[in-house]
Amino acid sequence: MKVIIPAVLLTMVSMVAGSLTFSQDSGGSVIQWDPIESTYESLIIRCSKTVCEEEEPDWGVVLATVYPDSSGGFPVSVQIPGAFVVDPEKCIACGVCINRCPTDAITEDTDGKAVINPDLCIACGICANVCPVGAIFSPSSDLYYGLFGVNEEGVEEFIQGSVK
Ligand code: SF4
Ligand code: SF4
Repeated sequence: MKVIIPAVLLTMVSMVAGSLTFSQDSGGSVIQWDPIESTYESLIIRCSKTVCEEEEPDWGVVLATVYPDSSGGFPVSVQIPGAFVVDPEKCIACGVCINRCPTDAITEDTDGKAVINPDLCIACGICANVCPVGAIFSPSSDLYYGLFGVNEEGVEEFIQGSVK
């Protein structure tokens, strides 16, 4: 499931994280990065508990996809809703979280793995508490973030990563 989120100006105090910064406000989280001059088709924001490595284009869980604006340029930030996220690499498709979600925000993908609809998630945290393998989380300052560009061949290339 792709999440397409409009860019916003960063207006709150940020946690410094290298070339990528992470911050939170009442609407969720904001990821900001250095300006990009490229011909990428889109940008992908990923996150993980481990530091982003340039040679690992599939590193982390996809949080958002960012597309060029009408002038062809990319924004330098994106708002991430305050929703929980499933790590498909950890999910064992047990279905426990789906039955516990109070807003029916969780569905199965074609492999039976859980997927959370950020538009329906109210960030109650119930799913994360019941998941037997710790596959559900919410974006936070405890995680590492990475920015990847998708080229014409659909291949992701590492651009910038956060540090602590
Ligand atoms: S955090 Fe709550 S509302 Fe969001 S997906 Fe999990 S159980 Fe559903
Ligand atoms: S409870 Fe955890 S392992 Fe089970 S389907 Fe949900 S995310 Fe996957």
